[in-house]
Amino acid sequence: MIEIKKRLLNITAAIHDAEKKTQRTPNTVQLLAVSKTWPAEIVQQAVDAGQYHFGENYLQEALTKINALSGSNIVWHFIGPIQSNKTKDIAQNFDWVQSVDRFKIAQRLSNQRPENLAKLNICIQVNIDNEISKSGVSAVNLLPLAEQISQLDHIQLRGLMIIPTKTDDHQQQQLSFQKARLLFDQLATIYPNIDTLSMGMSADMAIAISQGSTMVRIGTGLFGQRGALNH
Ligand SMILES: *Cc1c(COP(=O)(O)O)cnc(C)c1O
Repeated sequence: MIEIKKRLLNITAAIHDAEKKTQRTPNTVQLLAVSKTWPAEIVQQAVDAGQYHFGENYLQEALTKINALSGSNIVWHFIGPIQSNKTKDIAQNFDWVQSVDRFKIAQRLSNQRPENLAKLNICIQVNIDNEISKSGVSAVNLLPLAEQISQLDHIQLRGLMIIPTKTDDHQQQQLSFQKARLLFDQLATIYPNIDTLSMGMSADMAIAISQGSTMVRIGTGLFGQRGALNH
């Protein structure tokens, strides 16, 4: 408990530090706690420490936690790959989906979003470094996809999510984030209501913030190393 609270304070301080260093307005970068592989009790500890946005990659695992923690004020983000047969459960149980890269998936999510819930918040995942076998729409196909998604009734387009190539090369990381920022700005001229550029994980958070991230997705930095059994 004390451990997670301490880590949460450390990460929040590091976010503020990165905002300050790069002349970002304070408190404009949101923390998404990535709780994949960690049980509900651990999520509850983070909630008790003041965190309420959580990201999950695996549907069945997430549903168990969402049920166990129902009644809390958690905002759940789905951030993993999406198969068509999973869209109904996602539309019914999540507040955000950050990993949309095909119109068919967005359309199903919209159609399956319960009427009594707020619109489902969507980020389009962009394959920013054009990696083979990585999820995400390519940059050249982003605008047509956004145009289609923006017309769906039960979807609110919020912005972009990117996962750059895994590398320790800071310059390359910076370039990937810069490309994403340019795309985001371009999209924002067409959809002035978008507000979310989801980029930066435990290892590259500060660089992502320096390039305009508005949401960092932190797993290991908050909860610790995922174990051998974990994904
Ligand atoms: C696992 C995961 C994260 C968190 O990664 P860490 O390196 O543990 O901070 C962020 N985003 C996505 C999409 C993930 O799958």
